Amino acid sequence: MDELLKEIYNEHLGMVGEGHVADYIPELAAIDPNQYAIAVTTIDGQEYMIGDYETRFTIQSISKVFTLALLMKQMGEDIWHFVGREPSGTTFNSLIQIEQEKGIPRNPFINAGALVITDRIINYNSKPKHVILEFIRELAGSDDIYFDKAKALSEFDTSYTNRSLAYLIKSFGNIDNDIEEVLDVYCHQCSISMNVVELAKSSLFLANSGRNIYNGNQIISPTATKRINSLMLTCGLYNEAGEFAYRVGLPGKSGVGGGIVAILPGKLSIAVWSPELNKHGNSYRGISTLEAFATKLGISVF
Ligand code: GLN
Repeated sequence: MDELLKEIYNEHLGMVGEGHVADYIPELAAIDPNQYAIAVTTIDGQEYMIGDYETRFTIQSISKVFTLALLMKQMGEDIWHFVGREPSGTTFNSLIQIEQEKGIPRNPFINAGALVITDRIINYNSKPKHVILEFIRELAGSDDIYFDKAKALSEFDTSYTNRSLAYLIKSFGNIDNDIEEVLDVYCHQCSISMNVVELAKSSLFLANSGRNIYNGNQIISPTATKRINSLMLTCGLYNEAGEFAYRVGLPGKSGVGGGIVAILPGKLSIAVWSPELNKHGNSYRGISTLEAFATKLGISVF
């Protein structure tokens, strides 16, 4: 595995300058686009890493996987009354379908769906930010994971589209709490900072039928785990989910910080980080890295 990661890393080292880092959140704009890291964790406890694997970045929309898992654990199947499970075919922060589909977001991984999930987490937990952070710390097997407050604040102050989305959803009655509170929790979950090793570890329960190998706890049921992986495959990369499934063949979730995680059920999780994004808001070097990894190892869920 070390040799394979080295080969893929070297093949992709020069792959920069084909996109742009996210700059609609001011605090993300200054990031060094050359940074690049890969980490693999296996359900029997092996860890492999290469590149800038000690550098933390904000997980952004990858947090939507963790908030979905947390709410499924707390609410079960009832969540499907207020969020769908179909690919949207739209950009991650699109407003169009919310009006057409009367406030029910297509899936939990577009921003509209994630805002609704966060709203219900606020209903179920008196200290929602704390509960989300502790949940992710448990998954990663580490207490050394924090919010990046500057990035959370920067996003909160400039959340024009997300604020519009949230108000539109609330106008249809599908958000219970104060919009500013929902946005505050949402921007904090997006600002959680991890390196690729921590990110691979915190996603590993999805490769292990919902069980956390670091403390032995069953986090969510095997069925709920299957459902989250299925949603990642069909919706995890927004309007590039089909292309990602075609090229990589694994459930995955991206964030505009440049991270992507992918899951090989029964075996491993892999996290890649490279901050430059393509027009869909996904890391193009990250996708290419995952494609090479899956192809060279001959793995996929199919
Ligand atoms: N915090 C970001 C936003 O809401 C997350 C988007 C993403 O990572 N795709 O715009």
